[in-house]
Amino acid sequence: MNYRGPYRVRAEQKPMPEIQHPEDAIIRVTRSCICGSDLHLYHGMVPDTRVGSTFGHEFTGVVEEVGPLVQNLKVGDQVLVPFNIACGRCNFCKQGLYGNCHETNTMSTAVGSIFGYSHTAGGFDGGQAEYVRVPYADVGPTVIPADMDPDDAVLLTDVVPTGYQAAEMGGIKKGDTVVVFGAGPIGIMAARCAWFFGPSRVIIIDQIDYRLEFAQNYAKCEAYNFKDMEDPVLFIKKITDWYGADVCIDAVGCEADGNTLQTFTGRKIMMQAGAATALQWAINSVKKGGIVSIVGVYGPPFNMIPVGNVLNKGLTIRANQASVKRLLPKLIDHVQSGRLNPKELITHRVPLEEVGDAYRLFSSKLDNCIKTVLIPSTK
Ligand SMILES: [Zn+2]
Ligand SMILES: [Zn+2]
Repeated sequence: MNYRGPYRVRAEQKPMPEIQHPEDAIIRVTRSCICGSDLHLYHGMVPDTRVGSTFGHEFTGVVEEVGPLVQNLKVGDQVLVPFNIACGRCNFCKQGLYGNCHETNTMSTAVGSIFGYSHTAGGFDGGQAEYVRVPYADVGPTVIPADMDPDDAVLLTDVVPTGYQAAEMGGIKKGDTVVVFGAGPIGIMAARCAWFFGPSRVIIIDQIDYRLEFAQNYAKCEAYNFKDMEDPVLFIKKITDWYGADVCIDAVGCEADGNTLQTFTGRKIMMQAGAATALQWAINSVKKGGIVSIVGVYGPPFNMIPVGNVLNKGLTIRANQASVKRLLPKLIDHVQSGRLNPKELITHRVPLEEVGDAYRLFSSKLDNCIKTVLIPSTK
């Protein structure tokens, strides 16, 4: 996969990646998802997304080659690779904050490194490819348990841990009402995982009916379309005795759907113009003293955050990139025991060569698409 500029990606030959450091591994990719956050790249909204780069931070594969210092992997291992690149030994990694590694992206003091996510996030090529170089190969890549479906494994690289961590950061308690904004794969997974913490109600809000329907069935939650509401904040107040939700989860971010960017009227458009509408709704509809958990991706220029309400309501705002490696043991157990079925989110499988079509389909939310997996033809 090769980025040629906004709305233009195609399959193209690139040089075979090589071991550049003794702790690298080369992975032959077997599955690679397109993520909602890839759409920010696709739409040209992420700073320093360079022409010629390869996206893809959700992939599984087979270890093809290892550097001389790699000890935990051997050639032939089937692995899932967390989206964050982490050194495993800095102060942050040692605390389990693998999404906040201090060493892998020395150009930034804020964001760590993410596979295939622009030079802002380290400049590493991603896994929407036949082969990918994986730095710090002893830290991230995790051998897929023999009894695990690879379709489940590939969703453990981002969707499941990010959704789970969204719920975990919400500090959900028994009997709580949880509201999730955004019924993309992450929001759906956040709603599903919220139930692990014992709430009495889980509500998901979006504007796309097929996704709401999917969320309702998959996450066993209530699902509402905000286009049918006068005001989502008022709606949530009404159904919570005017207290507000105990926990609000923002799984939208600066909305990645670029279709209606051209039109700047109406509430729907407010959401798609990069305004932090979902976050405003979250802050305004959570109860006093409540928690807002943010996993939606925001670029630098978000605006109109009602910070005054955060102060006056005594809110706690928690946000982070998921610490995939920290969560994996627990999440693998959830999948193996059947408590979580991530692969049900996969609606489309596309040969890697058709990556351009796959992005168009996913970006335009055609064909009831929830999650698309690219499959390289390499044998
Ligand atoms: Zn992702
Ligand atoms: Zn680190």
